[in-house]
Amino acid sequence: MHKEVSLFWHRRDIRLQDNAGLFNALNAGLNVQPIFIFDKSILQKLPANDLRVNFIYNEISKLKKLYNDLGSDLLVFFGFPSDVFKQLFQNTDWKVKYVFTNEDVEPYAIFRDNQIKEICAINNVQFTTLKDHVIFGANEVLKDDKKPYTVFTPYAKKWRSLLTNNHFKSFDTMSLKRNFIQTNPSTLLTLSDMGFIQTDFDFPSMEVSTDLIENYTEKRNFPAIKGTSRLGIHLRFGTVSIRTLLKNYLSVNDTWISELIWRDFYSQILAHFPHVAHQSFNPAYDQIPWRNYENEFERWKNGNTGIPIVDAGMRELAQTGFMHNRVRMIVASYLCKNLLIDWRWGEAWFAEKLLDFDLASNNGGWQWAAGSGVDAAPYFRIFNPDLQTKKFDPQLVYCKKWVPEMSSLNYMGNTVVAHDFARNRCLEVYKKALNPVV
Ligand code: FAD
Repeated sequence: MHKEVSLFWHRRDIRLQDNAGLFNALNAGLNVQPIFIFDKSILQKLPANDLRVNFIYNEISKLKKLYNDLGSDLLVFFGFPSDVFKQLFQNTDWKVKYVFTNEDVEPYAIFRDNQIKEICAINNVQFTTLKDHVIFGANEVLKDDKKPYTVFTPYAKKWRSLLTNNHFKSFDTMSLKRNFIQTNPSTLLTLSDMGFIQTDFDFPSMEVSTDLIENYTEKRNFPAIKGTSRLGIHLRFGTVSIRTLLKNYLSVNDTWISELIWRDFYSQILAHFPHVAHQSFNPAYDQIPWRNYENEFERWKNGNTGIPIVDAGMRELAQTGFMHNRVRMIVASYLCKNLLIDWRWGEAWFAEKLLDFDLASNNGGWQWAAGSGVDAAPYFRIFNPDLQTKKFDPQLVYCKKWVPEMSSLNYMGNTVVAHDFARNRCLEVYKKALNPVV
């Protein structure tokens, strides 16, 4: 008779402590074998030097080491999840009874989890998902008529009214560490086994100072200073726990907490309205006849539009995988409104380059900028890059850092399109598409 075990499947929760799914797995009465799968369906679309894969690999190596220190092991696979699970269910050392994992609301994750659920059912295994990535799940903050919120302010108000200490209570996985399967460490595959290149990129730290959060409200809009946490990548891959952050900073700065609420907000939008992953939330905006000039898109991507704040942001993104939120809004507005390029093109470029790329928040940000999304910037609000620069980079420190040639005649004389002309063109095109004369 094989020993019965539970599997815990790490995905966007690369950590041991305060992990809801892992805690529940350890509490379910059987010994737990943790696993991680480098998913071929995702990895095969990425370039060999993808930094996110490097980040995940580093964090998985550290996590495996932590398991080894506990006398246990993290089994790491490279393959299609359905194949990996079929193989795991054939294991002759143990018989899997339960699979636990944390919930993921992205469309591909839902498709994948349904596949695994079916394979589990065929093998008589119970598949359980837990909420871990957000404070409130998609159905926990609803309007009085039980419909989802599509406007942020009332959503945030309800979110705050529902919040109790239980929502950020830590799941003390270490108190149950005796329940991990005790085994010898296995060899970890290498990045090159999976076709990726190891880099020595310096990823943002997981540490954030209370001082930074205290001063967030005053400093968060100025891209030349480090006034924001840079925790995006850690929140994306769950190397930090959202509950721990909320608990640590709830009484420190409310503006920062609002940003975490935006994250929950966009996550529930994606869960309730999965069509936003491909279409405008507001279908009227899919009637806009985008110009989609390839050469202008290339100039935008390369930070070569002749608008310093736009070019600075795009160069920062290409070189560091980060872009400040204020600048994300400016470059996104510029692409959709000044250049009239489909927001999905910009969204895809961000998805390729951002270290903190997250489908729900990226899509929310892009649809906000294009005007097509929930609670979006109205179409007639078109960011003026010069005014934004005067307000948020008055000494041009940020612009000059990334675009040192910004004062040269060559640079200044090579603007893709003048703002006033682009503004009028945008207003005309949007107006016509949104209010067609019948
Ligand atoms: P901080 O300002 O310190 O905020 C803390 C955390 O709160 C962030 O790490 C993030 O998890 C969350 N957060 C902050 N602002 C937002 C927001 N507006 N919406 C949702 N969550 C937020 N954020 C992503 O995490 N991934 C993306 O792919 C992404 N794409 C974006 C695209 C566009 C066009 C725009 C306008 C915004 C996008 N954002 C995205 C939101 C925001 O720009 C980033 O979360 C923020 O800049 C990350 O920096 P930080 O970690 O220093 O954040």
